Amino acid sequence: MDEKYDVVELAVERTVGIKVTFADNYSAEIDLMTLRLICPCAMCRSLRERGKAAWPQSEGSQKLSIQDAQFHGSWGVNITWNDGHNAGIYTFQFLREIAESYLHSGLDLP
Ligand SMILES: [Zn+2]
Repeated sequence: MDEKYDVVELAVERTVGIKVTFADNYSAEIDLMTLRLICPCAMCRSLRERGKAAWPQSEGSQKLSIQDAQFHGSWGVNITWNDGHNAGIYTFQFLREIAESYLHSGLDLP
């Protein structure tokens, strides 16, 4: 695997976001809101395709936070949100691409 997409460290700050460090020493901080809006699961993807926001789902949603984050194999991370949504598996390649494109040039949802 390309070391560009190899993660050596993943720090989760439940109420802030995640910090990912890749094997080539590139590191990126991605905030909660961004992570949730780009959720790669089929449901959120289909909402975006229909021009709807993937989050929030309802009025008066509680403040967003991460409940749990688990490595998914050696290529991704599965995030469980405080509203129970946990269908998204963020591949390291996806996180890297988000970090490099969005964080520097503005949101362009995949
Ligand atoms: Zn989702």
